[in-house]
Amino acid sequence: MAEKLKSSADVTIIGGGVIGLAIARALAQRGAGDVCLIERNSLGLEASFAAAGMLAPQAEANSQDDFFNLACRSRDLYPNFAASLRDETGIDVELDTTGTLYLALTYEDLVHIEKRYEWQTAAGLPVEKLTASEARQLEPCINESVVGALRFPLDLQVENRRLLSALTNSVEKLGVTILTGTIVSSLDIERDRVAGVMTSRGFISSRAVVIAAGTWSSFIRFNPESAKPALAIEPVRGQMISFDARPQVTRHVIYTPRGYIVPRQDGRLLAGSTSENAGFARQVTAGGIGSILQNALEISPAISALPIVDTWAGLRPRAPDNLPVLGPCDEIGGLFYATGHYRNGILLAPVTGELITEAIVAGVTSPLLGPFSPSRFELVRA
Ligand SMILES: Cc1cc2nc3c(=O)[nH]c(=O)nc-3n(C[C@H](O)[C@H](O)[C@H](O)COP(=O)(O)OP(=O)(O)OC[C@H]3O[C@@H](n4cnc5c(N)ncnc54)[C@H](O)[C@@H]3O)c2cc1C
Repeated sequence: MAEKLKSSADVTIIGGGVIGLAIARALAQRGAGDVCLIERNSLGLEASFAAAGMLAPQAEANSQDDFFNLACRSRDLYPNFAASLRDETGIDVELDTTGTLYLALTYEDLVHIEKRYEWQTAAGLPVEKLTASEARQLEPCINESVVGALRFPLDLQVENRRLLSALTNSVEKLGVTILTGTIVSSLDIERDRVAGVMTSRGFISSRAVVIAAGTWSSFIRFNPESAKPALAIEPVRGQMISFDARPQVTRHVIYTPRGYIVPRQDGRLLAGSTSENAGFARQVTAGGIGSILQNALEISPAISALPIVDTWAGLRPRAPDNLPVLGPCDEIGGLFYATGHYRNGILLAPVTGELITEAIVAGVTSPLLGPFSPSRFELVRA
């Protein structure tokens, strides 16, 4: 049952995925006044629900750039983030510290992981180089044709669906107003400042608004329309498979350049994913599932005996340069963006919550957010 509509809020957040929830929680914890979170369906059922929950910046990075630094900062916030959520809500988000393995199964893969090893060791980051037999000793399920591997001991994984439950429980306890089943259609802008949001259930005036609407962020209209920044967030579909793997086949999250498998504590083994430009169609396809299966079996032929228990797809929100869009909109006072998290929204949730809150409450934009400013995109102004 949706909560009664409020006529005003100090801060309104559009979108109840992991990003909107993390920001709502951080704002409420900082005493940001009346915080209102608006979600058109139910909380946390879109990309954040579909994700694999890997928190693996080192396994995925090709260089030490601004994005890598932001991602590592967020990963390193996770132990406290998970512990405080557990204290507040009693929900264990199953933060797993076993680490991530990255396999080389071909000569090209080996060259790829050598490069990753070199720049990360030069940067003083913990990473272990394993021979094929060391990798198979660690995880006997691995394909016999493995030729080498890296282990990233600091990379983590989290059960993202439990994380969404914990965040929801936390924001409810903290007194955030949650309006589900409510669509934000437009933002009202007066004299270059946000005045509020028009929703399917009426107007809510607000001195600050955060757009955290994931892959739908560009659909929110601006009133007047001439104020709208030209921010084009697009959906990138990712499909997933879940197997029943009791007993579990691996302790580590295992990657190759083509796919990954993720063991869950309840005996599920997830395998992913695809990256498809399929518009807003959230279907699972034969081709998508076929390619995930092929890549999962390449990691471990033992998977061929496992029953498939579920398949699903989600839409990753991607900005034109593949980077997140984070921080205040320079042209419109009181408007903040927290979108475009693409492949890393679960990983980036704690740092996004913390830094967007600092920008709203203290008016301080962290230098960490600079490279991700919405101002890097052109404005469309009449
Ligand atoms: C298959 C797959 C695997 C992934 N694996 C990982 C991973 O291992 N690690 C990782 O870090 N990330 C992963 N991701 C990426 C991650 O899921 C996303 O980056 C993240 O969930 C984005 O969160 P969000 O809150 O911005 O978007 P969403 O979770 O999509 O939430 C946006 C919300 O906004 C609501 N909304 C939209 N428009 C409106 C409106 N006008 N009014 C009201 N509400 C609105 C939507 O209904 C939705 O609930 C994966 C994604 C996919 C699809």
